[in-house]
Amino acid sequence: MTKNTISAIVPVYNEGENLMELYDRLKTTLKSISEKHQIIFVNDGSKDDSLIKILSIAEEDSKVFYLNLSRNFGHQIAVSAGLEYCDAECTVIIDADLQDPPELIEQLYKKHKEGYDVVYAKRKKREGESFLKKLTAKFYYRLLKRWVSFDIPLDAGDFRLISRKVVGAINKMPEQNKFLRAQIAWLGFKQTHVLFDRETRKHGKSGYSYGKMLRLAFDGITGFSDKPLLFVSRLGFLISIFSFLLIIYAVFSHYILKVTITGWTSLLISTAFIGGIQLLSIGVIGEYISRINSNVKGRPLYILDSTNIPSEEDKKA
Ligand code: UDP
Ligand code: MG
Repeated sequence: MTKNTISAIVPVYNEGENLMELYDRLKTTLKSISEKHQIIFVNDGSKDDSLIKILSIAEEDSKVFYLNLSRNFGHQIAVSAGLEYCDAECTVIIDADLQDPPELIEQLYKKHKEGYDVVYAKRKKREGESFLKKLTAKFYYRLLKRWVSFDIPLDAGDFRLISRKVVGAINKMPEQNKFLRAQIAWLGFKQTHVLFDRETRKHGKSGYSYGKMLRLAFDGITGFSDKPLLFVSRLGFLISIFSFLLIIYAVFSHYILKVTITGWTSLLISTAFIGGIQLLSIGVIGEYISRINSNVKGRPLYILDSTNIPSEEDKKA
C-alpha cells in the first residue's frame, strides 16, 4: 500500500442498506481532501448482504479495502483491526449507519492541519436514541471522568480523526478489552473537538444490545480505574467497624445488663444486608479477574477470514 494522506475505518455489522450512501458521501469528502486516500471496511460478522456490497465497492474502487472477520467480534475490536491495517498520515473512525456525517471529516481534517493529533466529534444533539440510553450514557461518562486520572471527553463517541502517531501508539496497547475513546484520551497528545448534531441511524437497527453496552461500560471502568476495588474494600472496613461495635454492645447487654433482645427481624436484615454487600464485592472483584483471565490467555483479538490488503509477505514476494 502506498502512503496516503487520509484513511477512513468503517466497522460494519448488518449495514447493507446504509453502505452505498455511506460510500458515496465518504468518497466525495475524502476525495475533496486528497486523491491519496483509502477506505477500510471491517465486516464484523454481518448476517445480511453487507459483505457482498463491500466486495462490489472494492471491485470498482482500488482505494477501498476490506477486512472480513470470521465472526462478530464487536465494534471496538473491529475498529482496532482496522487500525492495525490502515496506512495514512491521519485516520478517521466513522460508523457505517450515517449517524456520523461523513461531510464533517473536512472540519476534522482542518483542525488536524492546525496541528492537532486527535480531533473528536462532540455531539451537540443526539437524535433518535432512547431517553434511557442518553441518560445512562450521560451518567456513565461523568462518573468515569471523575474516576480516571486523565481528561476524558464528554459526549463523544468513536467518531474522530487521529494522527499516525496516535494510531501507532494505540496499536502498541495490548489489552484485550478495548475501549478506544478512553485509550485515546489516556495517550494524551494535542486534542481538540468539533461540534456536530448526531442524526438518527438511516436504516436498520443498532448493533449495540444492552448486554454489549454494559460490557463496554465495565471494560471502560475496569480498564482505567481501580476505584470500584477501593470502594468495596473501604465499605468492608466500615462495615467491620460497625459490626465490631455491635458485637461489644450485644455481649455487654447479654452478660452485664442481662437483657437479650429477641431479634429475629434485626438478625434477618443484617444477614441479608451483609450477604448482599459480600456478593456485590465478589462481583466487583470478579469483573477484574475475568479481564485478567482474558488478557493472560493472550488470544488473538480477532480472526481474519479474508481481505484484499496485501500482507508484508505478499508485498515482498
Ligand atoms: N458495529 C460492529 N460490530 C458490532 C456492533 C456494531 O462493527 O457488534 C458497527 C456498526 O455497524 C456501526 C458502528 O459499529 O457502524 C456503531 O454501531 P451502532 O450504530 O449499532 O451503535 P450505536 O450508534 O447504536 O451506539
Ligand atoms: Mg449507530
